[in-house]
Amino acid sequence: METVQNSKQAINLENKYGAHNYHPLPVVLAKGEGVYVWDVEGKKYFDFLSAYSAVNQGHCHPRIVQALKDQAEILTLTSRAFYNDVLGMYEKYMTEYFGFDKILPMNTGAEAVETAIKLCRKWAYERKGIAENEAKIIVCEDNFHGRTTTIISFSNDPVAKKNFGPYTKGFIKIPYNDIDALKAALAEENVAGFLVEPIQGEAGVFVPDSGYLTEADRLCKENNVLFIADEVQTGIARTGQLLACDHENVKPDVLILGKAVSGGVYPVSAVLANDRIMDVIQPGQHGSTFGGNPLAAKVAIAALEVIKDEKLAENAQRLGEIFRERMSAFIKTSDLITLVRGKGLLNAIVINDTEDSSTAWDICMALKENGLLAKPTHGNIIRFAPPLVMTEEQLHECCDIIEKTIREFAA
Ligand SMILES: *Cc1c(COP(=O)(O)O)cnc(C)c1O
Repeated sequence: METVQNSKQAINLENKYGAHNYHPLPVVLAKGEGVYVWDVEGKKYFDFLSAYSAVNQGHCHPRIVQALKDQAEILTLTSRAFYNDVLGMYEKYMTEYFGFDKILPMNTGAEAVETAIKLCRKWAYERKGIAENEAKIIVCEDNFHGRTTTIISFSNDPVAKKNFGPYTKGFIKIPYNDIDALKAALAEENVAGFLVEPIQGEAGVFVPDSGYLTEADRLCKENNVLFIADEVQTGIARTGQLLACDHENVKPDVLILGKAVSGGVYPVSAVLANDRIMDVIQPGQHGSTFGGNPLAAKVAIAALEVIKDEKLAENAQRLGEIFRERMSAFIKTSDLITLVRGKGLLNAIVINDTEDSSTAWDICMALKENGLLAKPTHGNIIRFAPPLVMTEEQLHECCDIIEKTIREFAA
């Protein structure tokens, strides 16, 4: 195989031979280490996206990469037609780590969300006694749960949804962060679950009011409805606790994990629940050829050990406060930014311009020139989510770059 010589060539190849389902920032990365990535020309950047919070442990973390290499030489895939000597140990590790009776291992976030939906529906018919095909799941407006046909059926992003119908039925959509709307929806018949992101990441890092998750969880329990937390983006120390639900001491009935479970080294996702729910799934009813393979299992264990041993939740909490403090102070001096919000190291700034303006994109282009990579989400919002292995000194350096770039931009 030929190797690419420069960024332009790599971009041309993707444009010509790849489906155009993404609109990347024009930077071609060739190497990553910790909080840094390098492009084909050798220019170094701070990564402020972390692959949508999949590389919380930093790029190419030596311990996770070693786990991958070691297991890759022994056994990679058996399928679940046979037992293997790693999966059971992984399942024990995961259930103890997150405090649930059982895990159902999958690969991508969207698959784990699909798994949770199927689990919830089956529980509704076999335990709650809802009549077959009548179960409804409450979801929130502006949600992002992935890209499958069912998941986009309850999205309200026209770009993600239009011309992919007919859509899957059985979802009730309510505004996010609205307890009264949840109460009204729970009063409807045949409600089986409430699927929610503890912080809406893709929508632009919307943090709900404090107490929202606690009250939502309480209402669900009161109505015998499963509280299903999609922590694919917010989980694994990103927001300053292991899970974003931990900020309110809320324990979901069904927990969905993905992205940083593997430190970005390999696709690993999971659904966790207690026996009273998970026991409805019997042989043949759900599965995945790659789900729970030995390579994924070893990588995920290493990735989660890194989270604990390097105290990444504590670091995210501490650095997040510093970041928002600096940005808040800076906003007072700038007309171009109106708001900073977030938790831990999942943050966003809101640009003072219309939704459809290119300002956020243009700022990201200028940040790239100055050595920091970030991406706009939904119009005029820029998400900032660096790897959690960042030091305080590096964070200040990054804040300097952001402030300088925006000052130049406004001038
Ligand atoms: C990224 C994401 C998903 C989908 O994960 P994929 O691995 O891309 O399928 C689901 N839910 C949330 C909250 C996410 O951020």
